[in-house]
Amino acid sequence: MERKTTVISSEQLRQQQEFCGRIRRRWEEAGILPTAFVDTYGCQQNEADSERIRGMLEQCGYTMQDGEEGADVIVINTCAVREHAEQRVLGNVGALVHTKRRHPGQKIFLCGCMMGEPAVAEKIRKSYVHVDGVFSTHHLWEFPSLLYRVLDTGKRVFATEDEAGSIAEGLPVVRSSAFKAWVSIMYGCNNFCTYCIVPYVRGRERSRRPEDVIAEVKELVESGCRDITLLGQNVNSYGKDLQCGVDFADLLAELAQLPGDFLLRFMTSHPKDATKKLFDTMAQYPKIARHIHLPFQAGNDRVLKEMNRRYTAAQYLELVDYARSVMPDIVLTSDVIVGFPGETDAEFEDTLNLVERVRYDALFTFIYSPRTGTPAAEMPDPATRQEKLARFDRLCAAQNRISEEKHREYVGKTVRVLVDGVDDGVLTARTGGNRLVRLENGTEDLIGQYADATITGANTWSLMGKL
Ligand code: SF4
Repeated sequence: MERKTTVISSEQLRQQQEFCGRIRRRWEEAGILPTAFVDTYGCQQNEADSERIRGMLEQCGYTMQDGEEGADVIVINTCAVREHAEQRVLGNVGALVHTKRRHPGQKIFLCGCMMGEPAVAEKIRKSYVHVDGVFSTHHLWEFPSLLYRVLDTGKRVFATEDEAGSIAEGLPVVRSSAFKAWVSIMYGCNNFCTYCIVPYVRGRERSRRPEDVIAEVKELVESGCRDITLLGQNVNSYGKDLQCGVDFADLLAELAQLPGDFLLRFMTSHPKDATKKLFDTMAQYPKIARHIHLPFQAGNDRVLKEMNRRYTAAQYLELVDYARSVMPDIVLTSDVIVGFPGETDAEFEDTLNLVERVRYDALFTFIYSPRTGTPAAEMPDPATRQEKLARFDRLCAAQNRISEEKHREYVGKTVRVLVDGVDDGVLTARTGGNRLVRLENGTEDLIGQYADATITGANTWSLMGKL
């Protein structure tokens, strides 16, 4: 079946704005200042989507609040990646029955990846009757009309049909930071790694037009944004569906030439689509952070094949070597799954060896957990939980040692950091390579500014520094 991306027209978006106006007027006429709460689970893509949902809610007249108690609208943006996280979401949604009882006019919406799973949407329809509306990621742009229908008719709405996916430009947005921003450059994924549910719930890859991405980044930089992360499930395949001759490296190069003092980041990169051209581009432009998150997932070729990753350990290592040859200071981070179905002790040793060989700055380690609806969930999995835990502990111990050793190499150096917040009364900052620096001095008025920090100490998780 051919699947075609739906590009949402400006007329369709204008109609949504009309719904925002109608909702706003309803509240004004009632003399009520309505409030909303948006709760986000999962990845940065969901965070970016929630910023859009908040933008639409503000246009509808809602003020954002923290927590669900007393909110006129609650939106829960869900994540489907891990099954036990889904159970947690459903538990929390169930508990909202009581919240709604205390505030009967409250409207509850569920959206995000979980709502792209037909079985979940059906379960909500049948068993969670206090939920007023459900929409999948493809229908995010029409949230105002869905909300209006619920308010106007009191009836529940479900917008979850499986579509090829949509791209809507120009949705309103309320960003959670004035100096850091997420910019989605593409949506969906074509890869069907056997453990992953994403392609089933977020649809096929579809790229935003380069001119739209450039305009958004330009506007962000002009408004003072310092740190911009380009998002996509697989940014390295950006542009393949556009047939306009622009690939991800070209897009990065264009963005890196915009005037202003800022840094570009991106995630996530699939190794099978990462190119030497990408690393050459990163090396060429100082406005591209020297950091790549390049998930390898396993160090054994049989396991990689079972995962449908479509690269070998040798090809992966070749990429890493090339990246380091053009950027010796590049920060490398990755994801790894321990205990994939059928992984043997010997195959796990290959993963450990790869970690020792690459020496990542940080690693996100996961014990495989089956995801219903994916091929891996049907694969025989003879290893016990204890065996997997033992492998996991060995991997974490190795990586913790490496992270600490790599962090110690910073001590005595002066690095440029972006001061980004306060944690436990301590000012925090990030290096270009996204390493966390806890600052010994400095004041909160520096938040959002670049500064030079001399690194005075290090541990596995962070650096200590002095301005
Ligand atoms: Fe999932 Fe693989 Fe696509 Fe990543 S590349 S989103 S793991 S299918």
